[in-house]
Amino acid sequence: MDTAEFRRRGKEMVDYVADYLENIEKRQVYPDVEPGYLRSLIPEEAPEQPETYEDVVKDIERVVMPGITHWHSPYFFAYFPTANSFPAILADMLSGAIGCVGFSWAASPACTELETVMLDWLGKMLNLPEEFLAGTKGKGGGVIQGTASEATLVALLAARCRMVKRILSDDPERPEADIISKLVAYSSDQAHSSVERAGLIGGVRMRKIPSDSKFSVRGEALRKVLEEDKAAGLIPFYFCATLGTTPSCAFDYITEIGPICNTEGIWMHIDAAYAGSAFICPEFRPLLDGVEFADSFNFNPHKWLLVNFDCSTMWVKNRTDIIAAFKMDPLYLKHDHQESGLVTDYRHWQIPLGRRFRSLKIWFVFRMYGLRGLQDHIRKHVALAKEFEALVRVDERFQISAEVVLGLVCFRLKGSNDLNEALLKRINSARRIHLVPCQLSGRFVLRFAVCARTTESRHVQEAWAHITQLATELLRQFPQ
Ligand SMILES: *Cc1c(COP(=O)(O)O)cnc(C)c1O
Repeated sequence: MDTAEFRRRGKEMVDYVADYLENIEKRQVYPDVEPGYLRSLIPEEAPEQPETYEDVVKDIERVVMPGITHWHSPYFFAYFPTANSFPAILADMLSGAIGCVGFSWAASPACTELETVMLDWLGKMLNLPEEFLAGTKGKGGGVIQGTASEATLVALLAARCRMVKRILSDDPERPEADIISKLVAYSSDQAHSSVERAGLIGGVRMRKIPSDSKFSVRGEALRKVLEEDKAAGLIPFYFCATLGTTPSCAFDYITEIGPICNTEGIWMHIDAAYAGSAFICPEFRPLLDGVEFADSFNFNPHKWLLVNFDCSTMWVKNRTDIIAAFKMDPLYLKHDHQESGLVTDYRHWQIPLGRRFRSLKIWFVFRMYGLRGLQDHIRKHVALAKEFEALVRVDERFQISAEVVLGLVCFRLKGSNDLNEALLKRINSARRIHLVPCQLSGRFVLRFAVCARTTESRHVQEAWAHITQLATELLRQFPQ
């Protein structure tokens, strides 16, 4: 493909993308394919001779689209949202064209510097404490990780390193292996599975703190477990708090937990993967109160802030905590401006070496929407969730299973778990909308998450009409 053809094909692709997104609600939100469907549709081996672009493009609708779950359909209400906006798509095109690998400042100064400034912009939008910002001489700062899972792991590894060093400085004779074998990390019993996984990868014990009746961890619950563990000779070193849990969007009491962690020398990391975006609205910012006690904070603009996947933003109060844990300096990566207040080498802040130019899409989105436009987006989703909640509440056959704070509604038919499982099965088999379940206090619950940027009231109303119709049929067949 030469430049002339690229110009032409690029414009055609933009048209294809615009048509796809404009007409997405006409497509069935969830695919019909069976596992292994794709292998039989394409050759066993890569072509020996080049094919034409037409050949490739023809196969998008034949091979790919039948197996796509349309996350940006306004009938998609599963999991949590994943962001999508035109400015972010365009910025990603440019990022692809520049195609730099920005592991150090020298490897592409703009890639590093725009990221640092964007994380300061976003930190200010969230009203994060000054300590988390890089500024020109701050000790803290932000970084873009690929996912919240990576941020949780990076924080856990940095915390592990900090605790080992701290103990060794008091007791230099103690074997490091002995310290590591005593370390224990904590999270809520509602935390995302990636938190438990971080413990597995980090090779440390992980304990779940029981949440209360609202699915939140209170300070007392943590304190109780800490006392037990310390009495047993263990070394508590890390607590991963969740703001906006995945099952029900519950919030741990970080104003209670934070001071305990600070006193005990425990690293508090905050995982606000979904809910974090909402904190740009002053009315939701109180949910982040207590962040001042945290060592690190993370959320996913790629979930709810219109910046396409992948973009998970993480801030640390003390950048040396992270750099100390991961620094390697072979000669081929050295340059004349080593890590300092002004120069950041993000390779020390993450697990891989290479990194894409992801801050471009933040920059495009923030400038094209403005803080006001982003707040409107969040508020619209929350209002749609409240609209759905109100519909559920007036139907006596149903109940709401958790407080609706942001864009997620947890609900169920009054009745057995089997009944609710059967309802979800019918909903997802019909393919008109897509939902996933969760378990809350042993109950099977349906989750309705407002996801697509283009979801409107009529989609929510249609979804509810559809759900209630399926429920009526189900209850007719299996009267309770
Ligand atoms: C979605 C989610 C995650 C996982 O996010 P990734 O970026 O895919 O790793 C982690 N924690 C919470 C609370 C989530 O909702």
